[in-house]
Formats: sequence, structure tokens, C-alpha cells
Amino acid sequence: MTDPGLLIVVSGPSGAGKGTICDALRKTFSNIYYSISMTTRSPRTGEINGVNYYFTNDDNFKKLLTQDAFLEYAKVYDHYYGTPREYVYTLLNEGKHVMLEIDIQGAMQVKKTYPKGIFMYIVPPSKAVLEHRLRGRHTDTDEVIAARLSRARTELDWIDKYDYLIVNDNLPAAIDKAASIIRAEECRVTRN
Ligand code: 5GP
Repeated sequence: MTDPGLLIVVSGPSGAGKGTICDALRKTFSNIYYSISMTTRSPRTGEINGVNYYFTNDDNFKKLLTQDAFLEYAKVYDHYYGTPREYVYTLLNEGKHVMLEIDIQGAMQVKKTYPKGIFMYIVPPSKAVLEHRLRGRHTDTDEVIAARLSRARTELDWIDKYDYLIVNDNLPAAIDKAASIIRAEECRVTRN
């Protein structure tokens, strides 16, 4: 039987650069598959259903919840987000690595059900940099940006629940650190 792949869980405030880092990791490791989450939020400009997310409505999301279809789920900024359970386990059992880019509430659920996962937290070097990045994206209103900054502050209390902390002050260096962690984990002999 093939050894299961690694479940790589990546969290961090919006604007920390985790999307960019995850994309770079997927290019570096052909064995990493990205789990596409389901969400009840509306698509942003340029986002495609089935590529960035599976976009759905509240009723359908709640129906899937009753069917235990999610490995984890959370309500983030008034919208539901969830990771399809079956897809993730199928890939892991085929020996593929699966990457989840999810918030802290979801990551803590995964940690309970799948403690063998690798939990990474990505932070920007400072609050000022985070705010600058969020404003630079031009995708969110001032109100949304304020909510994201405030949430980023409360999330910091949870960092010690993660296995690895990556400060994204320099993108290539941050990608390199994340890649090194994955390479090391691929060589790990024992796993709890
Ligand atoms: P955004 O709306 O900016 O794409 O994502 C908002 C937050 O939801 C981010 O912190 C992102 O990591 C998180 N998120 C995206 N998909 C999931 C998911 O399936 N589960 C959980 N728990 N969080 C998710």
C-alpha cells in the first residue's frame, strides 16, 4: 500500500501572501494538489467557479453540512467556507500531498481529526505592511479591510497551535522556507 501523502495546512491573515506562497509551492512540487473549498461568498472579479472556489448558496452549504461532506468548515466574515472531505482523503490515500489554505478555526478542526497534518502559519512582517498589501489589492472596501486587520490581530494568539511560522518579509525567502519544511517533512520517519 502507498504511504499517504502529506496534508499541508496553510493559514494566515488575508494579505500575508499565503496565496502567492501556496501557488509557488504547487509549481515546485508536482505532487501537491490544492483542495478547492466551497464558499457562500460571491466571486470577486476574475474568480472562477471550480478554480478559486466552488461558489454556492447558504441552503446548499447547510445541506452539505448535514451530510458531513466537509473535513472542516468555518464562518469567516459572515460567509461559510468548507473543505470537501472525500476529495482530500482520496488524494491522500493515493500518496498525493494536499494543500489546504484555510482560516484558523478550520485549521484547528483539521488538527483534531488529522493531527498528522503539517500546520504552517504565514504572517506579514508588520501590521503596516499588511494594511498596505490589503489596500493594494483594490478588491475590498475600507470596512472589509478594517475587519480583516482586526481579525488578524486576534488570530495572532493562535500561532503557537501551528507547527511552523513563516514571516513573509521577502517573498522568495518565504517560499524557500515553506519548500524546505515540506522537503523535511517528506523525509520524516515517525509521525504522530
Ligand atoms: P477569501 O474570502 O479572502 O478568499 O478568504 C477568507 C478567509 O477564508 C481566508 O483566511 C481563507 O484562508 C479562508 N478560507 C478559504 N477557504 C476556506 C475553507 O475551506 N475553510 C476555512 N476554514 N477557511 C477557508
